Amino acid sequence: MGIVVQKYGGSSVSDASAIKRVARRIVEAKKAGKDVVVAVSAMGDSTDELLDLASQVSPLPPARELDMLLTSGERISMALVAMAISDLGFSARSFTGSQAGVITDSVHGKAKIIDVTPGRISTALDEGHIVIVAGFQGVSADTKEITTLGRGGTDTTAVALAAALDAEVCEIYTDVDGVFTADPRIVPAARKLDRVTYEEMLELAACGAKILHLRCVEYARNHGIPIHVRSSFSQLEGTTVSGSIDDIPIIPPTGPDEEAPMEQAIIAGVAHDRSEAKVTVVGVPDKVGEAARLFEALANAQINLDMIVQNVSAAATNLTDISFTLPRSDGQTAMAALAALQSVVGFDSLLYDDKIGKVSLIGAGMRSHPGVTAKFFTALAEAGVNIGMISTSEIRISVVVDEDDVDAAVAATHTAFDLDASEVEAVVYGGSGR
Ligand code: ASP
Ligand code: MG
Repeated sequence: MGIVVQKYGGSSVSDASAIKRVARRIVEAKKAGKDVVVAVSAMGDSTDELLDLASQVSPLPPARELDMLLTSGERISMALVAMAISDLGFSARSFTGSQAGVITDSVHGKAKIIDVTPGRISTALDEGHIVIVAGFQGVSADTKEITTLGRGGTDTTAVALAAALDAEVCEIYTDVDGVFTADPRIVPAARKLDRVTYEEMLELAACGAKILHLRCVEYARNHGIPIHVRSSFSQLEGTTVSGSIDDIPIIPPTGPDEEAPMEQAIIAGVAHDRSEAKVTVVGVPDKVGEAARLFEALANAQINLDMIVQNVSAAATNLTDISFTLPRSDGQTAMAALAALQSVVGFDSLLYDDKIGKVSLIGAGMRSHPGVTAKFFTALAEAGVNIGMISTSEIRISVVVDEDDVDAAVAATHTAFDLDASEVEAVVYGGSGR
């Protein structure tokens, strides 16, 4: 019998009636002859509420205790979902991440899954039960402590279970109908994608599309697990994430005036991110080793950088400015780490700007279509949006803009690439967007 893994996010299990609705949906899959394993998130915004509560008790709670606290959210929903299923006459067994065999490293708050030993799940399935697993959590092999996988981590729990159980598919149930060409909250004319490759989905997730946890997509790609992102509030088909851009032939245009053949959509979507800040190190002496020294200090502080730009040095002074972006939450740590180097490196000053946003255009087709960058920048110019920084990958162009310009930049880009749907497709069914 085939195994199906389903994940239900917080807005799909936000209250008792939502839990009963989800239970009916789970039972439908069981009735259709599947073995069903479910990963659940905490109810509604309860993880945020637990975080608020913790911060009222202590400004800097111990990471171990924070994980103990946060994992309780998923224990509540897993037990309630199991109860609702039993009320429908089917038997369900709930398991914590640790009981389900989700083994992680020992980094509290952003643990990585290193193995899944699903013995208890397999036994429960063999006994005919529906299995409900608390998402977003595991147990460290080293320290034996309970860990969490980072915000949104239940997606990753679901994919890891699907890989370990050799499931047919991993269905991610959420409060929108699938992956859209832009955030429907900003672009009401956003279009649902029927299919998107792992690489495009990775770029979308890394560039701020909140629909899937980044690590879940990495895990799915590494293990070849197809993900079906769909709404728990409707019966519509969602978006399938599968396949690689390497399997899409790059067919160059046949002549200077020819468009490349339409093998696939050129652009998968426009993502945006308001969670980053920009740091500028002003007046860095332009000599060998200075950049290395600055970035080593940031690496030692465990800070992940995104875009980096070094200006051409002014001939008269031989000084240059280096700017980079990083998560806002790491901003103060980075500024402190750099300030400690000021006298050693001899730069002039540090600037910090968290009123920025990043807008990214993503699509495998840009490899074979010249002019994508020009069209993108023209759209921004026509919308009156100034570009602060630029970075690219094979299938992505990102720009940093003023935070207040993000919505206009996303909308203008979406229109310029003919992504607007003629009829509104996007429905946001639930969730507070928190
Ligand atoms: N409950 C956790 C969160 O809100 C994990 C998840 O939803 O996937 O981040
Ligand atoms: Mg949540």
